[in-house]
Amino acid sequence: MRFIKTKAAVAAIGLSLSLAACGGDSDTPDVEVVESPEFEEGTKMAELSEAGTIRVGTKFDQPGFGLQNLEGDVEGFDVEVAKIIAGALGIAPEDIEWVESPSAVREQVIERDEVDMVVATYTINDERKERITFAGPYYVAGQQLMVAADNDTITGPDDLEANPDAKVCSVTGSTPSEQIKEYLANESQLVLFDVYDKCADALRTGQVDVVTTDNVILLGFVAESDGEFKLVGEQFTDEPYGIGIEKGDVEFCEFINETLADNEDAYNDAWASTAGEVEGTEAPELPDADACA
Ligand code: GLU
Repeated sequence: MRFIKTKAAVAAIGLSLSLAACGGDSDTPDVEVVESPEFEEGTKMAELSEAGTIRVGTKFDQPGFGLQNLEGDVEGFDVEVAKIIAGALGIAPEDIEWVESPSAVREQVIERDEVDMVVATYTINDERKERITFAGPYYVAGQQLMVAADNDTITGPDDLEANPDAKVCSVTGSTPSEQIKEYLANESQLVLFDVYDKCADALRTGQVDVVTTDNVILLGFVAESDGEFKLVGEQFTDEPYGIGIEKGDVEFCEFINETLADNEDAYNDAWASTAGEVEGTEAPELPDADACA
């Protein structure tokens, strides 16, 4: 059972020595769950806080960011960021409902009100902003390539055009799957799946030669590959990660931005216990948030 540090519990128990006795899970940081926070009536914050639960769209296949473990729990930096926001709404981690949200369905699950927010390696861009609102950014990744460790032919995106037989895997509805097209000899080089672990499997079996997406996602697969995969070339895009919410909910967006800014220690701990444990990642500083719109 994960220990939840509520303000009331801290006040009542006082010492961290007593807190430890409650039986914490040392893998992930304690999340502060504010007791009975007050919000203006009619806001999304009031609705969620009163309901005592929140539906969060995230990835289930991306080590370091959003990965469902064998017990069925999700873990990763996105998961911890969502827990920080839920905590500020008075919602404990075990009261979060996690909804798997692959890249192509993220706008849709928000528009259809199937989730309250999406925290899922979700790049902020203008096209997506036509359908949803983004809080954040809370992290900035960049697109890169992953190949088999013994591949010396593909050393970066500029080698793809000269090797038209090389198959490149990415995910439908992702920014990398669009951005890679300008480097390809033709579009038949591109192989698309719905989730990245299928690309990693295809690389392992030799069905594809390259996987492309954000560097931090690829680093998670490299770390899990036991030396089978490596990253090549430099990152060639910027991918600022935002938290997707219903279009136009400026109040909820501002609440999320304020919550992250007020919880930088928790943010840093969240990184250190998740993506920060993956070899090759660098601890981020919380970026300044964009204006909410
Ligand atoms: N950050 C990119 C995106 O939002 C790639 C990662 C992903 O597909 O989740 O499309």
